[in-house]
Amino acid sequence: QTETDTQRKFYQLSREERLQKLEDAGTIDRESKNELLYNVALPADIANNLIENQISEISIPLGIAQNFVVNDAEFVIPMATEEPSVIAAASNGARIVKIAGGFRASVSQRLMRGQIVFYDVEDENELRRLIESREAEIFEVARQSYPSIIKRGGGLEKMSIRWLAASQFLSLDLFIDVKDAMGANIVNTILEAVAERLQQELPNEKILFSILSNYSTESLVTATCEIPFSLLNKGEISGKLVAEKIVQASELAKVDPYRAATHNKGIMNGIDAVVLATGNDTRAIAAACHAYAVKEGQYRGLSCWSMKEETLVGTLTVPLAIATVGGATNVLPKAKIALEILKVDSAISLMEVIAALGLAQNLAALKALVTEGIQKGHMSMQSRSLALTVGAIGDEVGKVTALLENQKPLNQEIARAILKKVRL
Ligand code: NDP
Repeated sequence: QTETDTQRKFYQLSREERLQKLEDAGTIDRESKNELLYNVALPADIANNLIENQISEISIPLGIAQNFVVNDAEFVIPMATEEPSVIAAASNGARIVKIAGGFRASVSQRLMRGQIVFYDVEDENELRRLIESREAEIFEVARQSYPSIIKRGGGLEKMSIRWLAASQFLSLDLFIDVKDAMGANIVNTILEAVAERLQQELPNEKILFSILSNYSTESLVTATCEIPFSLLNKGEISGKLVAEKIVQASELAKVDPYRAATHNKGIMNGIDAVVLATGNDTRAIAAACHAYAVKEGQYRGLSCWSMKEETLVGTLTVPLAIATVGGATNVLPKAKIALEILKVDSAISLMEVIAALGLAQNLAALKALVTEGIQKGHMSMQSRSLALTVGAIGDEVGKVTALLENQKPLNQEIARAILKKVRL
Protein backbone atom coordinates (compact mmCIF):
# COMPACT_ATOMS: atom_id res chain seq x y z
CA GLN A 1 0.00 0.00 0.00
CA THR A 2 1.28 3.46 -0.87
CA GLU A 3 1.04 6.34 1.55
CA THR A 4 -1.80 7.90 -0.47
CA ASP A 5 -3.70 4.59 -0.21
CA THR A 6 -3.53 4.60 3.56
CA GLN A 7 -4.52 8.26 3.71
CA ARG A 8 -7.68 7.77 1.72
CA LYS A 9 -10.87 7.77 3.73
CA PHE A 10 -13.15 4.69 3.70
CA TYR A 11 -15.67 6.46 1.46
CA GLN A 12 -12.94 7.25 -1.08
CA LEU A 13 -12.00 3.57 -1.55
CA SER A 14 -13.40 1.30 -4.26
CA ARG A 15 -15.85 -1.42 -3.19
CA GLU A 16 -13.09 -4.05 -3.44
CA GLU A 17 -10.76 -1.92 -1.32
CA ARG A 18 -13.42 -1.39 1.35
CA LEU A 19 -13.98 -5.14 1.57
CA GLN A 20 -10.24 -5.77 1.73
CA LYS A 21 -10.00 -3.29 4.57
CA LEU A 22 -12.73 -5.14 6.47
CA GLU A 23 -10.93 -8.44 5.91
CA ASP A 24 -7.59 -6.97 7.01
CA ALA A 25 -9.22 -5.66 10.19
CA GLY A 26 -10.61 -9.14 10.94
CA THR A 27 -14.22 -7.90 10.64
CA ILE A 28 -14.97 -10.52 7.98
CA ASP A 29 -13.12 -13.60 6.77
CA ARG A 30 -12.11 -14.36 3.17
CA GLU A 31 -15.23 -16.41 2.48
CA SER A 32 -17.55 -13.61 3.62
CA LYS A 33 -15.53 -11.08 1.65
CA ASN A 34 -15.95 -13.14 -1.52
CA GLU A 35 -19.68 -13.55 -0.89
CA LEU A 36 -20.08 -9.79 -0.49
CA LEU A 37 -17.82 -9.04 -3.46
CA TYR A 38 -19.06 -11.49 -6.07
CA ASN A 39 -22.66 -12.34 -5.18
CA VAL A 40 -24.17 -9.11 -6.51
CA ALA A 41 -26.71 -8.28 -9.18
CA LEU A 42 -27.03 -4.50 -9.28
CA PRO A 43 -25.02 -2.58 -11.87
CA ALA A 44 -21.97 -1.22 -9.99
CA ASP A 45 -22.74 2.38 -10.92
CA ILE A 46 -26.22 2.22 -9.44
CA ALA A 47 -25.26 0.43 -6.23
CA ASN A 48 -22.28 2.66 -5.54
CA ASN A 49 -24.06 5.89 -6.32
CA LEU A 50 -27.31 5.24 -4.45
CA ILE A 51 -25.71 5.00 -1.00
CA GLU A 52 -22.43 5.79 0.73
CA ASN A 53 -19.66 3.34 1.72
CA GLN A 54 -21.32 0.62 -0.36
CA ILE A 55 -19.80 -2.85 0.02
CA SER A 56 -22.43 -5.22 -1.41
CA GLU A 57 -26.19 -5.77 -1.67
CA ILE A 58 -28.78 -7.68 0.27
CA SER A 59 -31.20 -9.88 -1.62
CA ILE A 60 -34.78 -10.46 -0.52
CA PRO A 61 -37.08 -12.86 -2.40
CA LEU A 62 -39.54 -11.20 -4.76
CA GLY A 63 -42.90 -12.94 -5.23
CA ILE A 64 -46.29 -12.29 -6.76
CA ALA A 65 -49.63 -11.91 -4.97
CA GLN A 66 -52.52 -13.01 -7.13
CA ASN A 67 -56.30 -12.67 -7.32
CA PHE A 68 -56.48 -8.91 -6.77
CA VAL A 69 -59.42 -7.04 -8.21
CA VAL A 70 -59.47 -3.35 -7.30
CA ASN A 71 -62.12 -1.00 -8.72
CA ASP A 72 -63.03 -3.71 -11.26
CA ALA A 73 -59.50 -4.05 -12.64
CA GLU A 74 -57.26 -7.09 -12.09
CA PHE A 75 -53.79 -6.61 -10.59
CA VAL A 76 -50.77 -8.80 -10.09
CA ILE A 77 -48.77 -7.48 -7.14
CA PRO A 78 -45.00 -7.91 -6.75
CA MET A 79 -43.98 -8.28 -3.10
CA ALA A 80 -40.46 -8.30 -1.64
CA THR A 81 -40.41 -10.09 1.69
CA GLU A 82 -38.36 -12.55 3.67
CA GLU A 83 -41.35 -13.78 5.70
CA PRO A 84 -42.96 -17.08 4.70
CA SER A 85 -46.76 -17.14 4.30
CA VAL A 86 -47.19 -13.38 3.68
CA ILE A 87 -47.75 -13.74 -0.07
CA ALA A 88 -49.92 -16.86 0.28
CA ALA A 89 -52.07 -15.04 2.85
CA ALA A 90 -52.46 -11.95 0.64
CA SER A 91 -53.47 -14.07 -2.37
CA ASN A 92 -55.86 -16.02 -0.19
CA GLY A 93 -57.56 -12.91 1.25
CA ALA A 94 -57.78 -11.41 -2.26
CA ARG A 95 -59.32 -14.63 -3.66
CA ILE A 96 -62.23 -14.42 -1.21
CA VAL A 97 -62.78 -10.72 -1.98
CA LYS A 98 -62.54 -11.37 -5.73
CA ILE A 99 -65.45 -13.81 -5.53
CA ALA A 100 -67.34 -11.16 -3.54
CA GLY A 101 -66.82 -8.58 -6.32
CA GLY A 102 -63.39 -7.18 -5.52
CA PHE A 103 -62.08 -4.22 -3.52
CA ARG A 104 -63.20 -0.62 -3.92
CA ALA A 105 -60.49 1.94 -3.24
CA SER A 106 -60.33 5.72 -3.46
CA VAL A 107 -58.10 8.70 -2.84
CA SER A 108 -59.69 12.07 -2.22
CA GLN A 109 -56.48 14.13 -2.37
CA ARG A 110 -52.79 13.55 -2.90
CA LEU A 111 -50.88 16.43 -1.33
CA MET A 112 -47.67 16.48 0.69
CA ARG A 113 -47.25 18.77 3.67
CA GLY A 114 -44.04 20.66 4.32
CA GLN A 115 -43.26 22.70 7.42
CA ILE A 116 -41.39 25.98 7.86
CA VAL A 117 -40.96 26.22 11.61
CA PHE A 118 -40.46 29.49 13.51
CA TYR A 119 -39.34 29.40 17.17
CA ASP A 120 -39.01 31.86 20.08
CA VAL A 121 -41.86 33.84 18.60
CA GLU A 122 -42.20 37.24 20.32
CA ASP A 123 -45.51 38.46 19.00
CA GLU A 124 -47.65 35.62 17.66
CA ASN A 125 -50.37 37.79 16.15
CA GLU A 126 -47.85 39.98 14.40
CA LEU A 127 -45.99 36.98 12.91
CA ARG A 128 -49.22 35.48 11.65
CA ARG A 129 -50.16 38.80 10.06
CA LEU A 130 -46.72 39.19 8.46
CA ILE A 131 -46.89 35.68 6.94
CA GLU A 132 -50.50 35.91 5.77
CA SER A 133 -49.90 39.28 4.12
CA ARG A 134 -47.22 37.60 2.02
CA GLU A 135 -49.39 34.73 0.77
CA ALA A 136 -49.27 35.76 -2.91
CA GLU A 137 -45.51 36.15 -2.71
CA ILE A 138 -45.11 32.74 -1.06
CA PHE A 139 -47.07 31.15 -3.94
CA GLU A 140 -44.91 33.00 -6.47
CA VAL A 141 -41.61 31.90 -4.84
CA ALA A 142 -42.91 28.33 -4.72
CA ARG A 143 -43.77 28.47 -8.41
CA GLN A 144 -40.37 29.80 -9.38
CA SER A 145 -38.44 27.35 -7.20
CA TYR A 146 -39.73 24.19 -8.96
CA PRO A 147 -41.08 25.10 -12.41
CA SER A 148 -41.19 21.50 -13.71
CA ILE A 149 -43.82 20.40 -11.16
CA ILE A 150 -45.97 23.38 -12.23
CA LYS A 151 -45.69 22.19 -15.86
CA ARG A 152 -46.98 18.81 -14.71
CA GLY A 153 -50.01 20.49 -13.14
CA GLY A 154 -48.74 20.30 -9.55
CA GLY A 155 -47.09 22.69 -7.07
CA LEU A 156 -48.21 24.62 -3.99
CA GLU A 157 -51.98 24.36 -3.49
CA LYS A 158 -52.62 25.90 -0.08
CA MET A 159 -50.98 27.01 3.14
CA SER A 160 -51.97 27.13 6.78
CA ILE A 161 -50.52 28.15 10.13
CA ARG A 162 -50.39 26.04 13.29
CA TRP A 163 -49.27 27.18 16.74
CA LEU A 164 -47.51 24.54 18.83
CA ALA A 165 -46.48 24.23 22.49
CA ALA A 166 -48.38 27.31 23.69
CA SER A 167 -47.10 29.43 20.80
CA GLN A 168 -43.43 28.50 21.32
CA PHE A 169 -43.40 27.38 17.70
CA LEU A 170 -45.26 28.48 14.61
CA SER A 171 -45.45 25.96 11.80
CA LEU A 172 -46.21 27.38 8.39
CA ASP A 173 -47.54 24.34 6.53
CA LEU A 174 -47.39 24.28 2.73
CA PHE A 175 -49.51 21.70 0.91
CA ILE A 176 -47.96 20.66 -2.37
CA ASP A 177 -49.28 18.54 -5.20
CA VAL A 178 -46.29 16.37 -6.16
CA LYS A 179 -48.20 14.39 -8.83
CA ASP A 180 -46.72 10.88 -9.20
CA ALA A 181 -43.62 11.47 -7.06
CA MET A 182 -43.22 10.75 -3.33
CA GLY A 183 -42.27 14.38 -3.16
CA ALA A 184 -39.65 14.74 -0.42
CA ASN A 185 -37.10 16.50 -2.61
CA ILE A 186 -39.72 18.52 -4.46
CA VAL A 187 -41.28 19.73 -1.19
CA ASN A 188 -37.96 20.41 0.52
CA THR A 189 -36.73 22.45 -2.45
CA ILE A 190 -39.87 24.59 -2.44
CA LEU A 191 -39.81 24.98 1.36
CA GLU A 192 -36.21 26.12 1.42
CA ALA A 193 -36.84 28.75 -1.26
CA VAL A 194 -39.89 30.09 0.60
CA ALA A 195 -38.07 30.02 3.95
CA GLU A 196 -35.13 31.93 2.51
CA ARG A 197 -37.42 34.66 1.19
CA LEU A 198 -39.31 34.89 4.48
CA GLN A 199 -36.07 35.11 6.43
CA GLN A 200 -34.87 37.96 4.20
CA GLU A 201 -38.11 39.85 4.68
CA LEU A 202 -38.53 39.07 8.37
CA PRO A 203 -34.96 39.33 9.69
CA ASN A 204 -36.07 39.50 13.34
CA GLU A 205 -37.95 36.20 13.21
CA LYS A 206 -36.15 32.94 13.90
CA ILE A 207 -36.63 29.98 11.53
CA LEU A 208 -35.69 26.60 13.03
CA PHE A 209 -35.84 24.60 9.81
CA SER A 210 -37.92 23.67 6.78
CA ILE A 211 -38.75 20.04 6.04
CA LEU A 212 -41.36 17.71 4.62
CA SER A 213 -43.71 16.07 7.13
CA ASN A 214 -43.93 12.31 6.78
CA TYR A 215 -47.31 12.36 8.53
CA SER A 216 -49.04 12.55 5.16
CA THR A 217 -52.65 13.02 6.24
CA GLU A 218 -53.41 14.75 2.94
CA SER A 219 -52.51 11.54 1.06
CA LEU A 220 -55.03 9.15 2.55
CA VAL A 221 -56.33 6.14 0.69
CA THR A 222 -59.30 4.01 1.69
CA ALA A 223 -59.91 0.43 0.57
CA THR A 224 -63.11 -1.43 1.36
CA CYS A 225 -64.58 -4.87 0.74
CA GLU A 226 -67.88 -6.57 1.43
CA ILE A 227 -67.90 -10.34 1.86
CA PRO A 228 -71.00 -12.54 2.13
CA PHE A 229 -70.83 -14.80 5.21
CA SER A 230 -71.07 -17.85 2.94
CA LEU A 231 -67.56 -17.14 1.61
CA LEU A 232 -66.11 -17.27 5.11
CA ASN A 233 -67.15 -20.82 6.08
CA LYS A 234 -64.22 -22.78 7.47
CA GLY A 235 -64.80 -26.52 7.95
CA GLU A 236 -67.29 -26.88 10.78
CA ILE A 237 -67.22 -23.16 11.58
CA SER A 238 -69.98 -21.12 9.94
CA GLY A 239 -69.10 -18.02 7.92
CA LYS A 240 -71.33 -15.96 10.22
CA LEU A 241 -69.35 -16.98 13.29
CA VAL A 242 -66.07 -16.28 11.47
CA ALA A 243 -67.40 -12.81 10.58
CA GLU A 244 -68.52 -12.16 14.18
CA LYS A 245 -65.12 -13.12 15.50
CA ILE A 246 -63.33 -10.94 12.93
CA VAL A 247 -65.46 -7.99 14.09
CA GLN A 248 -64.52 -8.77 17.70
CA ALA A 249 -60.84 -8.94 16.71
CA SER A 250 -61.15 -5.54 15.06
CA GLU A 251 -62.80 -4.11 18.22
CA LEU A 252 -59.99 -5.53 20.33
CA ALA A 253 -57.38 -3.82 18.15
CA LYS A 254 -59.17 -0.52 18.85
CA VAL A 255 -58.88 -0.81 22.61
CA ASP A 256 -55.63 -2.70 23.20
CA PRO A 257 -52.35 -1.28 21.84
CA TYR A 258 -50.65 -4.64 22.49
CA ARG A 259 -53.03 -6.26 20.03
CA ALA A 260 -53.15 -3.21 17.73
CA ALA A 261 -49.40 -3.34 17.08
CA THR A 262 -49.66 -6.97 15.92
CA HIS A 263 -52.84 -6.27 13.95
CA ASN A 264 -51.06 -3.43 12.13
CA LYS A 265 -47.86 -5.44 11.69
CA GLY A 266 -49.94 -7.90 9.68
CA ILE A 267 -51.28 -5.09 7.49
CA MET A 268 -47.75 -3.72 7.05
CA ASN A 269 -46.54 -7.21 6.01
CA GLY A 270 -48.31 -6.53 2.73
CA ILE A 271 -47.84 -2.78 2.42
CA ASP A 272 -44.15 -2.86 3.23
CA ALA A 273 -43.46 -5.68 0.76
CA VAL A 274 -44.87 -3.83 -2.24
CA VAL A 275 -43.32 -0.54 -1.11
CA LEU A 276 -39.93 -2.27 -1.02
CA ALA A 277 -40.48 -4.11 -4.32
CA THR A 278 -41.25 -0.84 -6.13
CA GLY A 279 -38.20 0.99 -4.73
CA ASN A 280 -40.36 3.29 -2.61
CA ASP A 281 -39.38 4.64 0.80
CA THR A 282 -40.36 1.98 3.37
CA ARG A 283 -39.46 4.20 6.35
CA ALA A 284 -41.64 7.05 5.14
CA ILE A 285 -44.64 4.76 4.72
CA ALA A 286 -44.11 3.03 8.07
CA ALA A 287 -43.71 6.36 9.91
CA ALA A 288 -46.91 7.70 8.35
CA CYS A 289 -49.02 4.59 8.96
CA HIS A 290 -47.99 4.20 12.60
CA ALA A 291 -48.46 7.92 13.28
CA TYR A 292 -51.93 7.64 11.74
CA ALA A 293 -52.71 4.66 13.97
CA VAL A 294 -52.33 6.94 16.99
CA LYS A 295 -54.27 9.90 15.58
CA GLU A 296 -56.89 9.69 18.34
CA GLY A 297 -54.29 9.74 21.10
CA GLN A 298 -54.14 5.96 21.50
CA TYR A 299 -52.47 3.49 19.15
CA ARG A 300 -55.26 1.56 17.39
CA GLY A 301 -55.75 -0.98 14.62
CA LEU A 302 -55.71 0.69 11.20
CA SER A 303 -58.53 -1.41 9.76
CA CYS A 304 -62.13 -1.74 10.83
CA TRP A 305 -64.45 -4.74 10.33
CA SER A 306 -68.21 -4.62 10.84
CA MET A 307 -71.30 -6.55 9.75
CA LYS A 308 -73.97 -5.33 7.36
CA GLU A 309 -76.91 -7.64 6.73
CA GLU A 310 -75.40 -10.97 5.64
CA THR A 311 -71.95 -9.57 4.89
CA LEU A 312 -68.66 -8.73 6.58
CA VAL A 313 -67.48 -5.22 5.68
CA GLY A 314 -63.82 -4.28 5.89
CA THR A 315 -62.29 -0.80 5.64
CA LEU A 316 -58.68 0.30 5.73
CA THR A 317 -57.60 3.93 5.61
CA VAL A 318 -53.89 4.70 5.55
CA PRO A 319 -51.63 7.57 4.49
CA LEU A 320 -49.54 6.36 1.55
CA ALA A 321 -47.07 8.84 0.09
CA ILE A 322 -46.12 6.46 -2.65
CA ALA A 323 -44.47 7.12 -6.01
CA THR A 324 -44.34 5.68 -9.49
CA VAL A 325 -41.53 8.10 -10.45
CA GLY A 326 -38.50 9.64 -8.77
CA GLY A 327 -36.35 8.45 -5.87
CA ALA A 328 -35.15 4.89 -6.42
CA THR A 329 -38.31 3.76 -8.24
CA ASN A 330 -36.86 4.31 -11.69
CA VAL A 331 -33.25 3.61 -10.76
CA LEU A 332 -33.36 0.08 -9.34
CA PRO A 333 -33.85 -2.24 -12.34
CA LYS A 334 -36.17 -4.64 -10.50
CA ALA A 335 -38.24 -1.80 -9.01
CA LYS A 336 -38.90 -0.63 -12.57
CA ILE A 337 -40.02 -4.16 -13.48
CA ALA A 338 -42.21 -4.32 -10.35
CA LEU A 339 -43.99 -1.16 -11.54
CA GLU A 340 -44.29 -2.71 -15.00
CA ILE A 341 -45.93 -5.80 -13.47
CA LEU A 342 -48.36 -3.63 -11.50
CA LYS A 343 -49.40 -1.76 -14.64
CA VAL A 344 -50.54 1.25 -12.61
CA ASP A 345 -50.76 4.51 -14.53
CA SER A 346 -50.39 6.90 -11.56
CA ALA A 347 -49.31 7.17 -7.94
CA ILE A 348 -53.00 7.33 -7.00
CA SER A 349 -53.72 3.94 -8.64
CA LEU A 350 -50.72 2.47 -6.83
CA MET A 351 -52.05 3.82 -3.51
CA GLU A 352 -55.38 2.12 -4.19
CA VAL A 353 -53.78 -1.24 -4.98
CA ILE A 354 -51.54 -1.11 -1.91
CA ALA A 355 -54.44 -0.28 0.41
CA ALA A 356 -56.37 -3.25 -1.01
CA LEU A 357 -53.34 -5.44 -0.40
CA GLY A 358 -53.14 -4.27 3.24
CA LEU A 359 -56.81 -5.11 3.74
CA ALA A 360 -56.47 -8.55 2.08
CA GLN A 361 -53.50 -9.30 4.32
CA ASN A 362 -55.51 -8.28 7.37
CA LEU A 363 -58.52 -10.38 6.33
CA ALA A 364 -56.38 -13.49 5.82
CA ALA A 365 -54.59 -13.05 9.15
CA LEU A 366 -57.79 -12.43 11.13
CA LYS A 367 -59.62 -15.30 9.45
CA ALA A 368 -56.80 -17.71 10.25
CA LEU A 369 -56.54 -16.37 13.81
CA VAL A 370 -60.21 -16.83 14.64
CA THR A 371 -60.47 -20.29 13.02
CA GLU A 372 -57.52 -22.69 12.92
CA GLY A 373 -55.00 -20.34 14.58
CA ILE A 374 -52.05 -18.71 12.89
CA GLN A 375 -49.51 -21.48 13.39
CA LYS A 376 -51.10 -24.12 11.16
CA GLY A 377 -50.75 -22.25 7.88
CA HIS A 378 -47.72 -20.35 9.04
CA MET A 379 -45.62 -23.26 10.19
CA SER A 380 -46.17 -25.34 7.07
CA MET A 381 -44.60 -22.42 5.17
CA GLN A 382 -42.09 -21.89 7.93
CA SER A 383 -40.83 -25.48 7.68
CA ARG A 384 -39.25 -24.69 4.31
CA SER A 385 -37.29 -21.78 5.72
CA LEU A 386 -36.47 -23.90 8.78
CA ALA A 387 -34.99 -26.54 6.46
CA LEU A 388 -32.84 -23.84 4.85
CA THR A 389 -31.85 -22.43 8.25
CA VAL A 390 -30.38 -25.74 9.40
CA GLY A 391 -28.41 -26.09 6.17
CA ALA A 392 -30.53 -28.26 3.85
CA ILE A 393 -29.51 -27.93 0.20
CA GLY A 394 -30.90 -29.16 -3.14
CA ASP A 395 -33.22 -32.18 -2.73
CA GLU A 396 -32.78 -32.11 1.02
CA VAL A 397 -35.00 -28.99 1.31
CA GLY A 398 -38.10 -30.82 0.05
CA LYS A 399 -37.33 -33.98 2.07
CA VAL A 400 -36.74 -32.12 5.35
CA THR A 401 -39.83 -29.94 4.76
CA ALA A 402 -42.02 -32.99 4.22
CA LEU A 403 -40.69 -34.75 7.32
CA LEU A 404 -41.21 -31.59 9.39
CA GLU A 405 -44.89 -31.51 8.41
CA ASN A 406 -46.34 -33.20 11.47
CA GLN A 407 -43.66 -32.33 13.97
CA LYS A 408 -44.41 -30.50 17.16
CA PRO A 409 -42.80 -28.26 18.19
CA LEU A 410 -41.41 -27.13 14.88
CA ASN A 411 -37.97 -25.85 15.75
CA GLN A 412 -34.34 -25.90 14.68
CA GLU A 413 -33.39 -28.74 17.01
CA ILE A 414 -35.91 -31.08 15.39
CA ALA A 415 -35.09 -29.83 11.89
CA ARG A 416 -31.40 -30.49 12.50
CA ALA A 417 -32.14 -34.06 13.65
CA ILE A 418 -34.29 -34.68 10.56
CA LEU A 419 -31.60 -33.33 8.24
CA LYS A 420 -29.10 -35.68 9.88
CA LYS A 421 -31.42 -38.63 9.17
CA VAL A 422 -31.97 -37.51 5.57
CA ARG A 423 -28.21 -37.42 5.05
CA LEU A 424 -27.62 -40.96 6.40
P1 NDP B 1 -37.18 13.17 -6.92
O1 NDP B 1 -36.23 14.16 -6.37
O2 NDP B 1 -36.63 12.05 -7.72
O3 NDP B 1 -38.26 14.01 -7.73
C1 NDP B 1 -39.18 13.43 -8.56
C2 NDP B 1 -38.78 13.66 -10.00
O4 NDP B 1 -39.60 12.86 -10.82
C3 NDP B 1 -38.97 15.11 -10.41
O5 NDP B 1 -37.74 15.69 -10.59
C4 NDP B 1 -39.73 15.01 -11.74
O6 NDP B 1 -38.97 15.49 -12.82
C5 NDP B 1 -39.81 13.53 -12.04
N1 NDP B 1 -41.11 13.19 -12.60
C6 NDP B 1 -41.31 12.55 -13.76
N2 NDP B 1 -42.61 12.32 -13.98
C7 NDP B 1 -43.27 12.85 -12.93
C8 NDP B 1 -44.64 12.90 -12.56
N3 NDP B 1 -45.60 12.37 -13.33
N4 NDP B 1 -44.97 13.46 -11.37
C9 NDP B 1 -44.03 13.98 -10.55
N5 NDP B 1 -42.71 13.98 -10.85
C10 NDP B 1 -42.32 13.41 -12.03
O7 NDP B 1 -38.03 12.45 -5.80
P2 NDP B 1 -38.99 13.03 -4.71
O8 NDP B 1 -39.06 14.50 -4.63
O9 NDP B 1 -40.26 12.31 -4.93
O10 NDP B 1 -38.29 12.52 -3.36
C11 NDP B 1 -38.30 11.16 -3.04
C12 NDP B 1 -36.97 10.74 -2.49
O11 NDP B 1 -36.60 11.56 -1.39
C13 NDP B 1 -37.03 9.34 -1.97
O12 NDP B 1 -35.87 8.67 -2.41
C14 NDP B 1 -36.99 9.52 -0.45
O13 NDP B 1 -36.42 8.40 0.17
C15 NDP B 1 -36.14 10.74 -0.30
N6 NDP B 1 -36.25 11.55 0.91
C16 NDP B 1 -37.20 11.32 1.89
C17 NDP B 1 -37.27 12.14 2.99
C18 NDP B 1 -38.36 11.89 3.98
O14 NDP B 1 -39.18 11.01 3.79
N7 NDP B 1 -38.42 12.64 5.09
C19 NDP B 1 -36.35 13.27 3.18
C20 NDP B 1 -35.44 13.45 2.07
C21 NDP B 1 -35.39 12.62 0.99
P3 NDP B 1 -39.21 16.91 -13.48
O15 NDP B 1 -38.25 17.79 -12.81
O16 NDP B 1 -38.94 16.67 -14.91
O17 NDP B 1 -40.63 17.32 -13.23
